[in-house]
Amino acid sequence: MTEQFDLIIVGGGPIGLACAIEAQKKNLHYLIIEKGAIVNSIFNYPLYMTFFSTAERLEIGNIPFNCLAPKPGRQEALEYYRNIHRYFNFNIRLFEKVNEIKKTSDSVFEVTTDKKFYKAKNIIIATGFYDIPITMNVKGEEMPKVRHYYKEAHEYAFRKVLVVGANNSSVDAALECWRKGADVTMVIRKNEINSRVKYWVKPDIENRIEEGSIKAYFESNITEIRDTEVEIETPDGKVAIENDFVLALTGYKPDLNFLEKVGIQLSDDELKIPSYNPETMETNVKGLFLAGVVCGGMQTHKWFIENSRIHASLIMDYITSK
Ligand code: FAD
Repeated sequence: MTEQFDLIIVGGGPIGLACAIEAQKKNLHYLIIEKGAIVNSIFNYPLYMTFFSTAERLEIGNIPFNCLAPKPGRQEALEYYRNIHRYFNFNIRLFEKVNEIKKTSDSVFEVTTDKKFYKAKNIIIATGFYDIPITMNVKGEEMPKVRHYYKEAHEYAFRKVLVVGANNSSVDAALECWRKGADVTMVIRKNEINSRVKYWVKPDIENRIEEGSIKAYFESNITEIRDTEVEIETPDGKVAIENDFVLALTGYKPDLNFLEKVGIQLSDDELKIPSYNPETMETNVKGLFLAGVVCGGMQTHKWFIENSRIHASLIMDYITSK
């Protein structure tokens, strides 16, 4: 028999869980479907990353997040969100991917996953943006030495590593790799390190570049990746440098096709902002809501945990008032 719910939440990230907490409070019959582990994006972060947010800004359900350091790391966040699940005992299916959501003529949603088929009166899409890297579209990008995700430095020690980009992910990776013995070069499109880089990390990278420990080509772009070298277009012309690995940490984007397939309208410009009512988080498809960082479309810096956890109560207040 097809299982039926008041609400299906697609994505078990921090905001999907925050939605489930509010649904539980309102006694809604809900299900979270998560394609990987619980808080899968955080699980896939670099092993030793430190959040830019303080612990209390990552809290959900008013459950305190204890942390000794000023900012928590990935490991502590995983511990915290696992404990959140222990406490609330969510109705969640892990390692199950939602492939399709269809609205029937009687206003019920049919949800097809890689394992099952469900029905629900309401849907929240809280799928984040960390599953699809933004590619550079340069020759050689498909080579195995090119990585769009960075895990830890060890494999890059004593190797020639090119780091593309100047955001938090690139800067963290460049510094970590350099400290573990890699020969690091950065290729940066603009003429400076991104102003959003964590305030306690920015002087570190700027000083390493200034003293020449980490080389940097500003106002430059990578143009071709070859077996043992990369070619870079710089203001002084093309240069080729020896290379073993390329860390192309050039950002990530939400699954916009998935949103469009469900019927959500996206803005015509390059930002691709999904259409939703900011007071209720309901999209142009009635009964279909967005929550968390997916709301920003290509503007992936607009939403984070602190300012999007509120989506959960906005949605649940609206659903229960209908
Ligand atoms: P996510 O955490 O991305 O959760 C989305 C979930 O949906 C994932 O678990 C994914 O597996 C699942 N999913 C996707 N598609 C499907 C599908 N079809 N079926 C089923 N499940 C699916 N934010 C902060 O607030 N503070 C920080 O300090 C911070 N640091 C960051 C550092 C890094 C390196 C990165 C990449 C991001 C950082 N962010 C930070 C942003 C952060 O990722 C988000 O704020 C937070 O994870 C958003 O939560 P979310 O629930 O909206 O999305």
